[in-house]
This record gives sequence, structure tokens and C-alpha cells, in this order.
Amino acid sequence: MSKYLDSRFLKLEPYVPGEQPRGQQFVKLNTNESPFPPSPAVQEAVARQAGLLNLYPDPTARDLTEALAGMLEVGPEQVFVGNGSDEVLAFCFQALCPNGAAFPDLTYGFYPVYAALYDCPAEVIPLREDFTLAPEDYYGVGRTVFIANPNAPTGIALSREQVAQVLEQNRDSLVVVDEAYVHFGAQTAVPLLGQYDNLLVVGTFSKSRSMAGARLGYAAGSAALIADLNRIRNSFNPYNVNRMTLAAGAAAAGDRDYYDRCCRTIMETREKTLARLGEKGFICTASMANFVFVTHPKVQAEALYLSLKQQGVLVRWFNKQRIQNHLRITIGTEAQMEVLFGLLDGLV
Ligand SMILES: *Cc1c(COP(=O)(O)O)cnc(C)c1O
Repeated sequence: MSKYLDSRFLKLEPYVPGEQPRGQQFVKLNTNESPFPPSPAVQEAVARQAGLLNLYPDPTARDLTEALAGMLEVGPEQVFVGNGSDEVLAFCFQALCPNGAAFPDLTYGFYPVYAALYDCPAEVIPLREDFTLAPEDYYGVGRTVFIANPNAPTGIALSREQVAQVLEQNRDSLVVVDEAYVHFGAQTAVPLLGQYDNLLVVGTFSKSRSMAGARLGYAAGSAALIADLNRIRNSFNPYNVNRMTLAAGAAAAGDRDYYDRCCRTIMETREKTLARLGEKGFICTASMANFVFVTHPKVQAEALYLSLKQQGVLVRWFNKQRIQNHLRITIGTEAQMEVLFGLLDGLV
């Protein structure tokens, strides 16, 4: 720490991303990346931009915004793009929480970090005992609500009807629905945009679109909300999405078939993985995401995490109240899951 740091940030506890090991070959099942490469169209689009890197990207991101609007079936004025959905969420905490924020105790780890960074008072609402989110716990909270749907790290999803109940009971508060994992079997809230101007749906290309390394996120909402987000973005970094990523995103939005196949494969592998983990005595949540969330009555999660790591398989263990005995395991390829089960046979 230098003597120059503003004392406001002394107590900040930064987000800790999953390990990204260098050198040693790990089977990486710890950060919910896709095991599949981006579509060939995306790779070609990126290559075409390489020779144009002397030029700034389009600060209005028009091509990508239009492609996304087509994908989401909303108007282009209802779409915002950011440098990962993390940036979009950061703008929400910075500018769209006039009365503070509310979110679950067990959810995406960045929500409390952004709340602290932007001095946004947060009401933390515990998930129920079985890790489900009860919509009624969010009725009339009087703050900006952040819900990851499906939730992380549990993978449990709310139905569109349940999301609508939260919106209906918060007509004067914004409800941000973070749909990072929506393409693995859950229902998107996007069709509710026509009915609820207090809804902002946030999405990412990092998980289902195999583009974690490109950093691309988006938001869909009323034209007024999107204008607010652009106001913040244009006061911070109008070139927040780089030229290669703009092109990659537009190409990905246009290759629905490729990504539908990837997502179907991951969902099939998830169901097989859940069945096999169940046979081994693991208790698993009903995950609708590209990961499973598991505990074992006889084996400690931390010990299991360390043994797996030692043998070359990385999974995610959170040293956090209520979930210290759980592991979050990303769904990889069938071959990667075979490596995992090969090790589990010797450990569980
Ligand atoms: C991965 C994830 C994000 C962040 O995605 P980026 O677009 O890579 O920044 C946001 N929300 C949730 C719930 C996530 O799991």
C-alpha cells in the first residue's frame, strides 16, 4: 500500500477470480468457461480486425448492438454493450442504485465488491435453507435488486413467472437480472421488457458464447435505462469494447446454430455428471447452469478440492459461510469429466 491511496479504499476487499494457472496443464473446471472454442465465424471476424488495430473501435458499437437487438428481439435503442458483463454490473452499482442495492447472501461474488467500491449500501438477503431464492423475500425492498438467474454458485433458476413477481412487487425499483448462465436451460426475462420498465437484463458472451477472453457483456432494458448506462460509459471510456471484440460479438450473435449445439452438449454432459455424482453419494443442487454445485456427507470439500488440484483437476471451493463444504464444478467436455471421475474414484 502506498501513502497515496485514498483512505476510502483501505478496507476494500477485491474480488478473487478463480485460479488461471500458467504452465502446468490442468483440467480447468473452476471458472465456468466453455470447453469449446468460439465459432469459426468468430475467429475469422477477429482475424479481419487485426490489421485495423491502428483505428479506434466504433464508440456507438452500432453493428454489434444491432446484431444483439436481433438476437434478443428488442430495439437497438434497448441494448447496451460493455467490457464483460462485469463492467455493465459495475455501472449499475455506480449509477442505478439511488437507494442502495439488495441481493442474496450467496450469489455472484462481485455484487458486494461493487457495492463497497461505489459506496452503495447493500441489504443482503439470505437464500432459504435449501439455497432457493424466495421471490417474496424481495417484495417491496425499496432498493435496486440484483438477481443472478440462474444463480451462482448454486445453479438454481427462477421461472420467468417468479421473476415477473419480483418486478411486479417492485414497480418503483430497478430489478437487474444477471443472466450469465441463461442459455443452459433456464428462461430469459427478456420478454418481460415490454411489460416492465423497471427491468434490466444483463448478459455475457463469456460462458455460453465461448468468449471469456474477449470480454463482452450486454444489457437490455428500456431506452431510458440504456441512455443512462451510455451516459456513464461515455463519461468513463467510450471505447470500452475493443475492435476485435465488437466484431467477434456480432459474428457470435449470427451463429446461433453453433452455440445452440455447444449448449446442448454441455447440458447433456451436466445431466450425466449429476447422475454419476449422485451415485457416488454427492448431494447436488438442480443446476440449470454450466456447472454443478455439490457436497458430500462423508468427504470434506476443501480436502477434495486440494486433492483434485494436486492431481491436475481444478474445481472451485469457496471459503465462505454456508458453503464451505460445497464445490462448484464447471461442466467440461466428456473427456474432461472422465478425468474428474477417474480421480474421484480414488477419493470418494
Ligand atoms: C461470469 C459471470 C459474470 C461475469 O461475466 P463477464 O461477462 O465475463 O464479466 C457475471 N455474472 C455472473 C453471475 C457470472 O457468473
